[in-house]
Amino acid sequence: MSSNTFPKLAFIGLGVMGREMAGHLIAAGYPVRVFDISSDAVKSLAEKGGIASSSVAEAVADAEITISMLPNTPQVEDVVYRDGVLKHMPRGGIFIDMSTISPEATRSMADHLSEKSISMLDGPVSGGPIGAKNAALSIMVGGERSAFDRAETVLKVMGTTITYVGAPGAGQTVKLCNQLVCAVNIQAVCEALALGRASGVDLEQMRDVLLGGSASSWMLEKLGPAMIAGDASAGFRIDLMLKDLRLVLEMAGQKDVPLPATSLVTSQYVEARAHGEGSNGNQALFKVYDRMTGQDVPVAMAGHP
Ligand code: NAD
Repeated sequence: MSSNTFPKLAFIGLGVMGREMAGHLIAAGYPVRVFDISSDAVKSLAEKGGIASSSVAEAVADAEITISMLPNTPQVEDVVYRDGVLKHMPRGGIFIDMSTISPEATRSMADHLSEKSISMLDGPVSGGPIGAKNAALSIMVGGERSAFDRAETVLKVMGTTITYVGAPGAGQTVKLCNQLVCAVNIQAVCEALALGRASGVDLEQMRDVLLGGSASSWMLEKLGPAMIAGDASAGFRIDLMLKDLRLVLEMAGQKDVPLPATSLVTSQYVEARAHGEGSNGNQALFKVYDRMTGQDVPVAMAGHP
């Protein structure tokens, strides 16, 4: 990076995650040009010291590092190919996409950017909105090692565990494997709670027992209480997990890897979203089990032929 200890940054995508991450970079003293298709999001970051931009092209024109935190693959491709990262970012710069998107599309963008002497890192995150707010994200990074070494200081402003995992796309691959484990684990917790409930055991006590043994998991610990209480509030949303599971299955198709458990839980996420739970937290997957076990039927209807 430049001799200045604070390289010029651009941050594209100021939603639930991006606004917190960009906020930390601004608070740390970096000059950060900010852009989002929502002008309110840009205004809010400008009030915290960000430099408001009216387009991607304007935001990235003098950026040594550009960071994106966008919903999915098409939005990142738009920002790179159509809106200006490829055309307007200075040569020698680094583009870090921290969204969760397709590893294959990531490799393709890295190749195109490399032709313009721009390095691309894929740095998806784990830790959710609370991790973003507390600058405690886990960041898994793929791309050229030399670009990672140059960007690590900036990544450390947003996260506590920064891990270089290999070639372009490797960060996204690791992130998607992370999501697979999370979703199948949530499903396992739902099944145990559904069976325990139908058998009449005390679910709070059962959860305590399981947490003390080899069935313990992050999902059981963090999401179990909300499942038992029927609290569906987000957290990490059902529709975001469904997006990630579709990326997992796309990758599995390309690599000829059968993922039967992931396929099944993906169908259950589709069912949950069809019942209006897309904006609810992932623990709302338990509502699928409510329906499968008749727990959602109004009392007056129960037993009706
Ligand atoms: P979000 O929808 O809250 O934010 C995305 C932002 O991008 C929005 O402000 C939107 O206006 C903006 N945007 C969309 N298209 C744009 C474009 N073409 N140009 C500029 N701005 C554009 O999403 P989020 O929850 O912040 O998630 C962002 C990414 O991080 C996703 O890939 C998600 O899977 C991943 N992620 C989210 C969480 C979470 O808990 N929310 C956790 C880990 C990873």
